This record gives sequence, structure tokens and C-alpha cells, in this order.
Amino acid sequence: MKALISSDVRLLANLIQEGKVVVFPTETVYGIGASTKLEASCLRVYEIKGRPKDNPLIAHFHSIESVAGACALGEIGRKLLEKFSPGPLTLILPKKDKFLFPKDLDTLAVRIPRNPVIREWIELSGGPISAPSANLSGRPSLTKLTDVVRYFGETVDAIFQAEEPSFGIESTVVSLFGDRPTLLRPGSIESEELLTVIPDLLIPDSFSKKNTSIVPLSPGTKYKHYAPTAKVTLLSSEEFSFSLKTTIQLETNAWIGFSFEEIDSGGLKIATKEKSFGEYSRICSVSSNEDYASKLYAFFEVCDQMGMKDIFCEVPRPGKGEEGLRNRLEKAKES
Ligand code: AMP
Ligand code: MG
Repeated sequence: MKALISSDVRLLANLIQEGKVVVFPTETVYGIGASTKLEASCLRVYEIKGRPKDNPLIAHFHSIESVAGACALGEIGRKLLEKFSPGPLTLILPKKDKFLFPKDLDTLAVRIPRNPVIREWIELSGGPISAPSANLSGRPSLTKLTDVVRYFGETVDAIFQAEEPSFGIESTVVSLFGDRPTLLRPGSIESEELLTVIPDLLIPDSFSKKNTSIVPLSPGTKYKHYAPTAKVTLLSSEEFSFSLKTTIQLETNAWIGFSFEEIDSGGLKIATKEKSFGEYSRICSVSSNEDYASKLYAFFEVCDQMGMKDIFCEVPRPGKGEEGLRNRLEKAKES
């Protein structure tokens, strides 16, 4: 059955209450949502995206008070939400309401999305709304409505048409459960900012900018993630420029990064005109780490649609926006 595409907040809230599955945009990526109070609906989300059952979902709330009603928020949790929410921060908290999905866990992952229309929808639905990222498990998360329709237009009940994601990578995840606050997944809210509120935050070595080994800390991080079908290679700026100059003629190679000035504009023009999908060709120029993150997954999708075999990604710039982006690039190149 074809999914309804709608911006009608009340109608979409009613669908959630009836147990239906609705894809919606957040400021990070699209999510596949179902009522956190309805186990069967949440389980359908797992089926739709082929998600392993041991990987729990994030519950999306409309306010800090609604989070405090469902979980033991505590002083640090409240401070974090006051500073970074609504926004791309997920907290793992001890669960108070035992009926929320997943029932067999003592913890709940919570987040308050930034778009007020989405928050209004969550509130009208009776909230919270559980949602993993909208992608087939293992593939890059989706950030464009056209991609959502292509992948999920026949399998979900409705698609919420609202402002598209701008951050482009999934939320930062911090656990406040256990002995010490721990960063479980880097994202747009970076460890430096988190440390201003929680100086004792444990930042696993695997997320430090130099260390590239991956240690599974939360269930989701042990799975292959964010990877397109094309092979992803991460290159230093010098290697990136060199690969451009020497292999631009190869029509199954694609590049995303900052340093395009070194190839002659003739070559670049040919590459950008050969083929394109919407706003993207096999060359994607970015102006900052934030711009890079916001374009990355959509570019991966386009590369797969165009049949690219190799995607060359320039390393992020040192500094702001580097942490989450580098983590996603590292995960995309794992095979
Ligand atoms: P996604 O929604 O696909 O962006 O993934 C959500 C992330 O949060 C995954 O890495 C999950 O494993 C993680 N997560 C969700 N709930 C919990 C929880 N209760 N404890 C630890 N990690 C969680
Ligand atoms: Mg995901």
C-alpha cells in the first residue's frame, strides 16, 4: 500500500495513536516512528528496516518535563537537556515507566527534536514516539524526502512532509546510566561542549580523533553502519587532490571534500556535467565540516544510484564538526 504523504499534524498524530508507522524528518536525519507505548507498532519498525532486535530505539519527546515523567532525569540529565535540547542529543536514562518500549530494558534512550512542528506532533500523539533512523539497516541514514519515498513509500503508513534534516548525521548519544557518564556515539554536539556541563564524561579512546578502532559500547555501534554500496576511501587532502588529478576520467569514481581547486576546471566541468541526480553529480564540494555532514548521506545515495564504484572522501578539517563526521566516515569505510 502506498504511504500517505502529509503535513497534517493532527491526522499524523492520530495515525501514531492508532498504531501506525510514520516516517518523519528531524534536524539530524529522517526517523521511522511508532508510539513508544505500542510494542507491536515498534516491532513493525524493526521489520520494515531489517534492524537487529537487540538494537533499541530512541524515544522522541516534546519537552523536558515529559522526559522527566518517563525517566529518572537527575540533575546532570536536566542540565544537559536545558543546554542542548531541543537538539541532536540523546541521553540513556534509567526508565521509570516500565510500559515503554523496549519493556525488557531498564533504560530508555531519549531525545527532543528541534523542529517545533515535530514536537507538536509528538505531543498531540500522546508521545513519546520511538524511532530509529530511516534507512535499511546498515545503509546510510536518509536526509532527503525523495530517498525516503523511494525506500519506504510502499512499506510505511505515512510520511511527514516537513523541514528536511540540516545536521545530516545522527544524534550524539550520552549514557547517564551506570557509574560514570559516557559518550556512546559522537555527533554534532561534541565532547568539548559536553565537558562544559559534565567534566567527568568518559570519552572512549575509540572516538578520539587519532584512534580509528571501533569498540561497541551501545548495541547499535557494533553493527556495520552508514555504508553505501560503493567502496568508501578516506584520504588526506594531498592524497585527495592527487586522486582527483589522476583518476577524474574514470567515470565510476566520485569525490566529496574541500580541495577541488587543484584540478583544471575543464576536467571538473566534464565530471559535473556527465550525469547528475538532483543537486548532486559525482563531485561534491563542501565548505565546512558542518556542510560536509549535511551532504554526506545524500551524496552516498546519489553515488549508489549513479552506479559509482569508488567514493573518495577527504578527511574533515581539524576543529568544529570534526568529531561526529570523522566517526561516520570511518564507519562508512569499514567493510
Ligand atoms: P539510531 O536510532 O539508528 O540512530 O540508533 C540509536 C542508537 O542509540 C543506537 O546506537 C542504539 O543502540 C542506541 N540506544 C538506543 N537505546 C539504547 C539504550 N537503552 N541503551 C544504550 N544504547 C541505546
Ligand atoms: Mg541508525
